Amino acid sequence: MPAPANKGAAPRIGLVSLGCPKALVDSERIVTRLHAEGYELSASYEGADAVVVNTCGFLNSAKEESLAAIGEALAENGKVIVTGCLGVEADRIRAAHPGVLAITGPHQYEAVIGEVHKAVPRPHDPFLDLVPPQGIRLTPRHYAYLKISEGCNNACSFCIIPALRGRLKSWPIGEVMREAERLVEAGVQELLVISQDTSAYGLDLGYAKSAWRGEEREARFLSLAEALGSLGVWVRLHYVYPYPHVDQVLPLMADGKVLPYLDIPFQHASSSVLKAMRRPAHQEKTLDRIRAWREICPDLAIRSTFIVGFPGETEEDFAALLDWLSEARLARVGCFKYENVDGAKANALPGHVPEEVKEERHARLMLHQQAISAELLAGRIGTEIEIIVDEVDEEGAIARSGWDAPEIDGNVYLNGETRARPGARLRVGIEHADEYDLWGSVVAPSDADRRAELSGA
Ligand code: SF4
Repeated sequence: MPAPANKGAAPRIGLVSLGCPKALVDSERIVTRLHAEGYELSASYEGADAVVVNTCGFLNSAKEESLAAIGEALAENGKVIVTGCLGVEADRIRAAHPGVLAITGPHQYEAVIGEVHKAVPRPHDPFLDLVPPQGIRLTPRHYAYLKISEGCNNACSFCIIPALRGRLKSWPIGEVMREAERLVEAGVQELLVISQDTSAYGLDLGYAKSAWRGEEREARFLSLAEALGSLGVWVRLHYVYPYPHVDQVLPLMADGKVLPYLDIPFQHASSSVLKAMRRPAHQEKTLDRIRAWREICPDLAIRSTFIVGFPGETEEDFAALLDWLSEARLARVGCFKYENVDGAKANALPGHVPEEVKEERHARLMLHQQAISAELLAGRIGTEIEIIVDEVDEEGAIARSGWDAPEIDGNVYLNGETRARPGARLRVGIEHADEYDLWGSVVAPSDADRRAELSGA
């Protein structure tokens, strides 16, 4: 079906954003730029003059999903521009969907915008002042992803991201902090720091200094965490590797400057599997490190992801992983069954694990971890914690604790709490728990929230 004309009004662009939070940040940049030029965002295919599909190319299943999304956009609208990680496989996209208008790769904002201009000419008189200073965000108003770098210097054997996105490229700390400040001024209460390797921040810049608030700061993981921790909002660190220098941010967590939360994609615990995966920091004694972190910050929650059925993984390797989980007592765990990814070195490794064994290990790992999570959450019953409200409907509020990231971790349900507003930070007494979520009631606004309420913010 061809795209309907949108005569007289500002041209409208639809956007389908697939993939990880990093891709979401790319989508936000595209939308911000289009909005600055006077385009409007369309929530439906019918209302759009063209559709941009931001694809994911990480796993083969994600590629299939991206191809299906392109097909749907073509069928529903007809004018489709493809961008994102799958964009590097232009031939594959053209073979499946010869009708796409253009294909660009990851981070090619200028190229995407150029293709939009060709498909739907930009309006004559863009209302530049319609764009809020913090840009347009696709996340709710109270939290935002803060991307600190692109690319990765590692060479994990199952991953093609370095080939897709290139080597590590960090933004100067002054720029990152100014973006963070803009977001906070616009009402953001929680900053989620993302990259491919957050603990490597600044390495490519030689940790070069840049100015923020009249002071020269080094582009280093600790310096960034300190600066973000001074903004008075929740700061959550994602994609951190267990390098020794990560120890330095734990005191900031213990002091409440940065959330006591680390998202560390361990992927496995057996040293032979980690070696075959060519994981960064694979020689670190991670259990010792976790123990030391908890001595500094007992409340630390660690979330992680694991791959089961990696080529060469034996039953002993898998048993070692379960034992490691019992010791590590992680708060949140995601688990993937290994898949070949076109172009990844792991495809050629010997000892590929049969599908049914992967299935079985996946189920065992999830069950094993469920018991640990349930025990940890049960320990919260009777305590008082600070939460942030995400959504409110007629039944109550859905919130999160500092130990839970949006979309990937659990919730705190406040049944009957219909007066709260999204973004409010409140004190809650925990009354009930299961293996993923908590339930509780509001005790009193937190100090930060009380100040905001008193100041009429
Ligand atoms: S750290 Fe490994 S898995 Fe993560 S992006 Fe870099 S190469 Fe890929």
